[in-house]
This record gives sequence, structure tokens and C-alpha cells, in this order.
Amino acid sequence: MSLIEKIAKAGVVGAGGAGFPTHVKYDTKAEYLIINGAECEPLLRSDKFMMSNFPEEIVEGVKMVADSIGVEHTVFAIKKKYENEYACLKRVIDDKGYDIEFFLMESFYPAGDEHTMVLDITGRVVPEMGIPLEVGCVVTNVGTIYNSYLANQDKAVMDKYVSVLAEVNEPRIVKVPIGTPVEECIKAAGGSTLDEFAVIIGGPMMGENLVEKNDIDNAVITKTDGSVIVLPKDQFVIERNQQSMEHIKNKAKAACIQCTLCTEYCPRYLNGHALEPHRIMRALAYEEVNSAEIFKSAQLCCLCGICELYACPMGLSPRLVNEYYIEKVDEKYESNKTEYEPHPMRGYRKIPTDRQMARLDLTKYNHQELYELLELEVNEVIIPLSQHIGAPAELAVSEGQKVERGDLIGRAKENALSVNIHASISGTVKKADYTKVIISRSAEVVL
Ligand code: SF4
Ligand code: SF4
Repeated sequence: MSLIEKIAKAGVVGAGGAGFPTHVKYDTKAEYLIINGAECEPLLRSDKFMMSNFPEEIVEGVKMVADSIGVEHTVFAIKKKYENEYACLKRVIDDKGYDIEFFLMESFYPAGDEHTMVLDITGRVVPEMGIPLEVGCVVTNVGTIYNSYLANQDKAVMDKYVSVLAEVNEPRIVKVPIGTPVEECIKAAGGSTLDEFAVIIGGPMMGENLVEKNDIDNAVITKTDGSVIVLPKDQFVIERNQQSMEHIKNKAKAACIQCTLCTEYCPRYLNGHALEPHRIMRALAYEEVNSAEIFKSAQLCCLCGICELYACPMGLSPRLVNEYYIEKVDEKYESNKTEYEPHPMRGYRKIPTDRQMARLDLTKYNHQELYELLELEVNEVIIPLSQHIGAPAELAVSEGQKVERGDLIGRAKENALSVNIHASISGTVKKADYTKVIISRSAEVVL
């Protein structure tokens, strides 16, 4: 079986993003393989943990994937300040004599954005609405490489390393089976220091905010989740994300001073794309003749959150506006650009992580001392059949059936972009429908 077939069988998806099926991404030829070890969102620690604890597996995984894609250049992009992780990886690379270069980055946001990384490393601009492959690059995350290494050993994706941070008594990395309730992760970190709290799944800039207790209770760890950040409900980031569209629209009318700072700091604009969030805000506030065209340009937004959480002096949220129009407008943005000129000030407009952290009111959680790794054993997992971009997996088990860890419980839909899903614990299928499978360890399951 080829590496690509093994990756497909194991159900590997992009571990740090939206969950694009990895067997499709790697089934190509390219000039560059870029390994994204930037972990550029504030506070996150999981990729760092993996690079220092599994350098052998990661380096071997990189080599396998690079050989499969047939690249000329393999570049490991990592922050300069990750000295220990760099040393761990470099030692393995040197021992094995592999041709893998390092690209050492300053700590800025969004260092890990694929378009930003490709431009910084190769000098090439990924086209509007395009992907790195269009300029000869495959960009992949450290966790995805690690899972691909395991796939080559015939191991399916069953676990996640998750950083549980901020308002918890024992901040730590936990290794959990896929489908573990988020609540269990928080308990494993000694519980929250607060009676009432909100949770961000992912990073503070782009992660999913859960504020209602019910939403937190129902959330589970999927293949794409690497962190659980517990924060007060009135924390700056949480409050910003709670605004309704109506409220944002009224604020845009009343408060947008058209200072253009959201555009000046926008990484897509700085790369040379025709995205100008201040114009979208203006079109939102005052219907303009070409508003429809302007709203379509929201599709160029990568939702990085810089405009909203860093740039805007008036507390407005161009990102949320863009998200709204990406959902609302069916017609695709059509790019007619063939040449791109990055902005001459681009190099000076990168957001230093420390400044960003201060702006987000997160500095006090930076450098939290981590307790030792905890491998969590849970009695029950709730495994969604859609944890990836594309069609959900099709149910492959029935209620009452006994399953072993690693058994196929959701089969990738045929002739579609889809991914296999496996049991992350051994037990009995307590509930199974076309959206999820619940597996319980207890022998007696009342159906
Ligand atoms: S930064 Fe804020 S105030 Fe300035 S143009 Fe953008 S949305 Fe308007
Ligand atoms: S979220 Fe804002 S800054 Fe980021 S790409 Fe979109 S418009 Fe630009």
C-alpha cells in the first residue's frame, strides 16, 4: 500500500486548520514542502510539545511525505525562540543526513498563515482564492506530519494532544482519545479557577468561542482541535466575539472613521490581494452602487482577526462582517489578477506576538508553567462523523456493536472528498446515527 493509501486508510486530516483530507493534499507533485511549526496564535503549546517530544517521528514523517511529493526543497518553518525544539529536530535531521532546511521566524502573527509563510520563504504570492500548490508549494502542519508517520505504521488517527490553558488550576497538555468531552479536558487540568467561564477551542484569534454552559458541555475534541483556553466570560476576546450583526452594522455606521488601519494591517492586502476591509465596512454602513462586488471580496479574507482584535481603534469587527458575507453571498469572487505586488511596508506590519497578547489582554497567561502530561482515560467518547472539510463519513457500525480501539466506525464517502473515522476507545456503540457515534467502555449499555 502506498503512503497516500495508508494516510487515507488512517483518516488523517490537517491537524491545525479546517481539516482538509491529507491524502488528497499530499497526492500531488510540488517543488516545496513547507512544514508549519509556527503555532502563531497566542498561548498555544501543542505543536511545540510535539516537536520536542516526537522529533524522530516528525522528521521521519517529513522525509516520507517529501519523497512522496517529490519536492526539491523541504523547509521546516519554526520560530527562532523555539530553541529547544529546533535543537531536537536539528539533531535528528543531522543524524540521519536528511536534506531538510530550517526557516527561522520572528514571533509575529500570522506567521503560520499559509500565504504568509509561502511568501516569506519562496517570495511567491499565492493567488487570490488560490492555494499554495498553485505556486509549487505544499504547506503542512507538524501534527499532520506526525499522524502521517503513524499512518505509515498502520495506526489510525485516534488521539489528540491538547493544551488546556489560562483559567485552569493545572495548565497542562493532555493526550485524549478523539471524541473526549471538552469538560473532561478541563477537569484533567484541575478544573477552572472560575465558577463561570467561557472556552475557546483553538487559538484566541481564530478559535471557536463557547460561552453558554450547554455549548461547553456538548463540545468534544475532534481531529482538528489542539487547545482549550478557559477564560472569564467578560474577557476582551470573548466579549468581542459575542456581537450581533445588527449591532456591528449600527456600530459601523456610527463609529467607523475610515481610518483604513484594518486594511493597512490586513495580511492578505499586504500580500497584494484586492481585500480592503475598510471598504467593506463603508459599503456595510452606506449602501454603495458597487456594494455587491465589494461584499464578494470578503471571500479573500482568511479570518485571521487582525483587523478586529488588533488594528481597529474603534473596536469594530471587519472580520465578523467578512464572515457574514462569506456565508451570505453565494456568487464566487472572481479574480482577474495575474500579477501580484506585495505591499512595500509588508515587512514592517507584522504583529509582534507580545504586543498582540497585550492587546488581547492575555499577557498574564503567557508562559504559564505546565504541569506534567496527562494521558486521559475516558469512559465515553462522542465521535462526530464530520471532522473535516468535505462529505461526512458514512456510518459503519450499529448500536450495541462491540468495537476495538482503531476499528473503522465511519467510512469515507465514495467518490467524494471524505475521510475515514475510527473508534478511539474500545467499548460498545451506545448510539450511532449519521452525525456521530457514541462509544461507552461500560459492558452494559442500555439502548
Ligand atoms: S480600522 Fe476600524 S475605524 Fe478604521 S476603517 Fe477599519 S473598521 Fe473603520
Ligand atoms: S480578518 Fe481582517 S485582517 Fe484578517 S484577512 Fe480578514 S480582513 Fe484581513
